[in-house]
Amino acid sequence: MTTQPTGPASGTAPAPEAGAVLETGVAGDGLDLEAAQSVLGVDDSRFRHDYLEVRGLRVEFDGFVAVQGVDLTVTAGDLRFLIGPNGAGKTTIVDAITGLAAASGSVQFGGVDLLGKKTHRIARAGVGRTFQTASVFEELSVLQNLDIAAGAGRGPLALLRRRTSTPEAVEQALETVGLAHLRDVQAGILAHGQKQWLEIGMLLVQDARLLLLDEPVAGMSQAEREQTGELLQRIGAQRTVVVVEHDMEFLRAFASSVTVLHLGQVLAEGTYAEVQADPRVQEVYLGSAGATRGARRRGAAPTSAAPTTDEKEA
Ligand code: ADP
Ligand code: MG
Repeated sequence: MTTQPTGPASGTAPAPEAGAVLETGVAGDGLDLEAAQSVLGVDDSRFRHDYLEVRGLRVEFDGFVAVQGVDLTVTAGDLRFLIGPNGAGKTTIVDAITGLAAASGSVQFGGVDLLGKKTHRIARAGVGRTFQTASVFEELSVLQNLDIAAGAGRGPLALLRRRTSTPEAVEQALETVGLAHLRDVQAGILAHGQKQWLEIGMLLVQDARLLLLDEPVAGMSQAEREQTGELLQRIGAQRTVVVVEHDMEFLRAFASSVTVLHLGQVLAEGTYAEVQADPRVQEVYLGSAGATRGARRRGAAPTSAAPTTDEKEA
């Protein structure tokens, strides 16, 4: 509905000649948000009834309860951020939803029960995720990685055979994640941020309808973060997206809603402004992330307890 402003980097600069930057292997010109439109498509109607519903989620590791009683509802069109200090259980929740951690309770997406299903069945139900440490196939090229994602249903021999043409969805994903000119380089030599973009591209060609992204912008430059945030907003405008993040600044700029986790439980939920004003959230953040900024008077500060670095800009 709302018109997204186009990033300053897009639209004006001509695309570099193919091969021009191949020798460095990692040079890039960023995301192409125009191309995102074509790979995402305009038909939102098929996502209309999608939503993630997590109830009473509980994960236990050898007697240690990492996640307890977590309820989470995320609808299509929402860009939900999942935040909380290290060890709060964010990754474990994503693992439980995607079948990598045994859990009890219930998880439903698009009317399908996910809990107890094998990972590939969950993927087939339209659920895709990225990992905190990028998990691309390092020895394969960028294109091959996308090909594998696109061909999740094809046989292994078909995947090994050299393609004569690139499928449309793969081509569009390459453009979208700004890796078209690096299609033939080994994924292993990409910069960390580019690996994260490649993983997001893989989810796009898989046509995932629920995307769970574990700290996608960690290690990215400020410019890359902004581009990624805009891409996530576009994806989130139609699909169901959950982003694990703990950078408050990124959150403030891009989250449409926020769930705060602490010690395996939901501590607060709401808009960025709502959770930021919550004294319990301030307490948790001042006790961890905030402490590194020298905010030592925990609990004493009222509304400005989670200071933003750009307050001067306002
Ligand atoms: P977050 O992603 O919020 O930083 P995690 O979900 O990774 O937190 O971890 C939540 C808690 O569960 C932590 O205390 C962590 O040590 C523990 N944990 C995570 N994975 C395992 C595991 N495989 N075995 C035992 N404990 C684990
Ligand atoms: Mg984690």
